[in-house]
Amino acid sequence: MRQRCLLELPPWPVAPRPFPEEAMGSWLGRVAARYRMGVGELSDEYGLELNTKAARAGWLALPAVQEATLAHLARLARIDEGRLQEIQTPNDVPVTRCVQLYCAHCLFVNPIDVAAPRWKRAWLDTEIPTCEVHGTPLAAIPSSALRRCRNFDQVLRVVGRLEFERARDHRNDLH
Ligand SMILES: [Zn+2]
Repeated sequence: MRQRCLLELPPWPVAPRPFPEEAMGSWLGRVAARYRMGVGELSDEYGLELNTKAARAGWLALPAVQEATLAHLARLARIDEGRLQEIQTPNDVPVTRCVQLYCAHCLFVNPIDVAAPRWKRAWLDTEIPTCEVHGTPLAAIPSSALRRCRNFDQVLRVVGRLEFERARDHRNDLH
């Protein structure tokens, strides 16, 4: 019964498109933000059964989603299932990481669409602490800080604040 009801849910009126280098959690976080929801709420509301609590960083680093969920998501977002398959979290991504790494330039300035920051899939399991695009060191954010965020807009606020504080501390160090 529940399954039938879920399949009858109409597709989302608007859903952001995933970027090829984006992490699945990032895309889900952007969808949730579009509807002013948390990723957990989105999962419950649409019966997605997303494993949002498995990773220490929460939904942003969620493990690969199941095939049935992928098909369900593709239908809701009206996009090709293959595009979602492309952004699946790789199986070897560690879920216990205490920090997540990112490049602020890459995060906030998406060369394909500057209005759409996204979290790169490569950051989830990188062993190389420098940005492959900019060659600068990747920054770290505690996984616990990401876990507290409800959706991707909140992630951007938290990272933005962190970057602001780091820039201020850097300026103070120079004086
Ligand atoms: Zn970069």
